[in-house]
Amino acid sequence: MIPFLDLKSAYTDLKNKIDEAIFGVLTSGQYIHGEEVEAFEREWAAYSGAEHSVGVANGLDALILSLRVLGVGEGDEVIVPSNTFIATWLAVTAVGAKPIPVEPQINSFNMDVEKVARAITPRTKVVLPVHLYGEPADIDEILALGRSKGLAIVEDAAQAHGATYRNRKIGSHGDLVCWSFYPGKNLGAVGDAGAITTNSALHAEKLRSLRNYGSRAKYVNDDLGCNSRLDPIQAAVLRVKLRHLDEWTERRRHIARVYLKSIKPNLVILPTVREDRNSSWHLFVVRSSKRQSLQAGLQNRGIQTLIHYPIPPHMQMAYRSLGIAPEALPIAKLLSEQVLSLPMGPHLSIEDAKYVASTINEIGEVNEQC
Ligand SMILES: *Cc1c(COP(=O)(O)O)cnc(C)c1O
Repeated sequence: MIPFLDLKSAYTDLKNKIDEAIFGVLTSGQYIHGEEVEAFEREWAAYSGAEHSVGVANGLDALILSLRVLGVGEGDEVIVPSNTFIATWLAVTAVGAKPIPVEPQINSFNMDVEKVARAITPRTKVVLPVHLYGEPADIDEILALGRSKGLAIVEDAAQAHGATYRNRKIGSHGDLVCWSFYPGKNLGAVGDAGAITTNSALHAEKLRSLRNYGSRAKYVNDDLGCNSRLDPIQAAVLRVKLRHLDEWTERRRHIARVYLKSIKPNLVILPTVREDRNSSWHLFVVRSSKRQSLQAGLQNRGIQTLIHYPIPPHMQMAYRSLGIAPEALPIAKLLSEQVLSLPMGPHLSIEDAKYVASTINEIGEVNEQC
């Protein structure tokens, strides 16, 4: 049996250190803010190459607070990918703005910059690229376009821990970079957690206020804030795990190389790899017009796969009021019908990856799209 994900394996491997970290918080009596949170913020900023890191309660809040820092609200438009996890869109609607979807380049799964340029209107305030599945979007081009039009760039990096673009870590290209440490992410807490990285001291300071009731000094409230603080227990666990992130990312990259080298390219469409960037391989996503039979065949042989994502945001009931027809975003719709995520993660051995690849080669039907 090859599970898609094994959240417990990281804990089992690091049990003593994680237990110690958690007990350290319990015995410290510091249950909000404090040393562990500050230390993790410093370490995460250093890791992701940014000057500042602000811990928050989860990735969705990281996105919402970033948009709030930029003053995005009613009447504003934010350009988002048509194919993403719904949180990217929900952040935009949460601040009262309108998500303007643009379609991806079908082979990279990421935002098509030419389509971003065409989607800009006088109401556009922010471009919000997602580094989907861990593969960096064309961030230099997006930044250049944004700068030329006076737009801010907020990155959704919830899947891109440790990913690099032109030899520089994802974490400080855009104005604000949003992270999730949801347990299933490449760096995962034992509950909800998130952060924002930025090179702007001003933005960081505003975020620290917004996440804490809009308060810089106790009982003095400058902004209409919320309660979205990073839990010190989660920060303590994240600090232990962060020391292993590079090794885990290396394992993911090794597994990806096995898949790319071993799976016959006429059976499924493999993800494209570009020389100027290095994916964090949060997910390894193939495409097939025969997805259903492929997924069932793998399941019968003990290989668990998942679909990210089966329904694109514009086809969700939650967004029916936007009135976007399913066919209006044909690439997002097609991807939702064809994508399949193979098992990926540090819990897998290279032997496991080879077994997955050889099983696909054995049961896969020739795919006329390839
Ligand atoms: C996980 C994820 C989020 C949301 O993070 P949470 O911590 O679950 O709120 C946002 N965007 C993307 C692309 C994600 O994968």
